[in-house]
Amino acid sequence: MLEHNYWLTTVEFPTANASGPLPEIVDVAVIGSGFTGLSAARTLAHRGATVAVLESETIGWGASSRNGGMVLTGLKLGVNQLISKYGRELTQRMYAASLASMDCVEQIVQEENIACDFSRCGHLEVACKQKHFDDYARQAEVIAHEFNHTLRVVQKHELPAEIGSTIYYGGMVDETSAGCNPARYVAGLARAAMKAGAKIFEQARVKNIQRGSRQGEVGWKLATSRGALWAHEVFVATSGYTGSATPALQKKIIPIGSFIITTEVLPEKLAHELSPRNRMIYDSKNYLYYYRLTPDRRMLFGGRAAFFPETAQTIRRSAEILRRGMIGVYPQLADAKIDYVWGGTLDFAFDIMPHAGQLEGMYYALGYAGHGVAMATYQGQKIAEMMAGDKPENPFVGIPFPGAPLGLYNGRPWFLPLAGAWYKFLDWVS
Ligand SMILES: Cc1cc2nc3c(=O)[nH]c(=O)nc-3n(C[C@H](O)[C@H](O)[C@H](O)COP(=O)(O)OP(=O)(O)OC[C@H]3O[C@@H](n4cnc5c(N)ncnc54)[C@H](O)[C@@H]3O)c2cc1C
Repeated sequence: MLEHNYWLTTVEFPTANASGPLPEIVDVAVIGSGFTGLSAARTLAHRGATVAVLESETIGWGASSRNGGMVLTGLKLGVNQLISKYGRELTQRMYAASLASMDCVEQIVQEENIACDFSRCGHLEVACKQKHFDDYARQAEVIAHEFNHTLRVVQKHELPAEIGSTIYYGGMVDETSAGCNPARYVAGLARAAMKAGAKIFEQARVKNIQRGSRQGEVGWKLATSRGALWAHEVFVATSGYTGSATPALQKKIIPIGSFIITTEVLPEKLAHELSPRNRMIYDSKNYLYYYRLTPDRRMLFGGRAAFFPETAQTIRRSAEILRRGMIGVYPQLADAKIDYVWGGTLDFAFDIMPHAGQLEGMYYALGYAGHGVAMATYQGQKIAEMMAGDKPENPFVGIPFPGAPLGLYNGRPWFLPLAGAWYKFLDWVS
């Protein structure tokens, strides 16, 4: 078993600028080269801005190349929770935006001709308890009524047509969700941003950002590991890797580890038995498992096996936990070899919502809570349009963005073991 991201074995990244001086001045400095930053850079460059994407590692190094590649509808919070918190009208707009975010990915993939195995294969949520399944019918009804979007409830006896596992109480299918190879997608986005005129600078960690004026113009001075840069505007797109260069955002985002294993390539018959319709699948727990077949027929199986972000230790421990979890779902895989294990960091806001807009004068978009493939692409584009002077529909701009209760958080998530235990408890009792 290799401690390595399987997706990286399938992709070639474009050559970016990895050394030498940065430009002296640009219109926009984008911090982070994942889906958010590259989607923003592409849009801004198309609108005629000079754009420097500053990436502390290499293109797509963060969650964008490491994820499950599930291009999902919906938000992390349930619709009833959303309606009681934001009201019907705003929730309807949020739901519509979450559907539009998948169209946004599809459109970019088509326009830019990105070979990333994008396919509208649909997703399947599976119920771990009878009461979770009972709730599906209620959810489907609310979603049909409030958002005019159809979900299909799958009774337990109908499940074999969807999944080769007998442990679930039923499921719910959304045919509009999609799957892709995320590393190929982020590499393609980088190529598209560069083609539009944006410049990507790797190994350029932003250490400090200060407001100031230069030749009578107000802007931002960025100190980076490759020297200084002056920018009229800054877009922070650092997600779960948000650090001390942007302390106000760091205090609002909790970095949480998520881990993935992939098996060896499976025989065609077995792969078909496990996932006859090739869905993106996840279960109904808080401490959930998500899984799918890769385009070359490996089972990719992920979960929050350890709550802390990825380290050699959490990755190794997760491999065994996830293997056990996978065999619990699919006993047919008891003898399948695990070829790869890796981890990445998710970005959770304290209210588990995406947030975007301006904070302390800088633009930002983050808080995708494991639903970022579509939403990050969409927010990058929408916030870039806003920076270019448009007034795009974006229901996530301006919603309250809470910090930690009583301000008990400085960016170091000391409470993660407690949160992990709490969610395990919730899965047990609810
Ligand atoms: C294991 C895993 C599985 C997931 N599965 C799914 C899934 O199936 N479907 C889904 O929708 N979502 C999934 N997600 C979430 C999704 O991957 C993210 O929401 C999305 O990739 C966020 O993109 P981003 O561009 O905002 O951030 P990232 O891709 O994380 O990029 C942030 C970048 O900022 C850079 N950076 C940070 N600080 C600095 C600095 N000071 N200077 C310069 N650069 C800096 C980092 O190096 C990093 O490359 C998953 C995430 C993980 C970790």
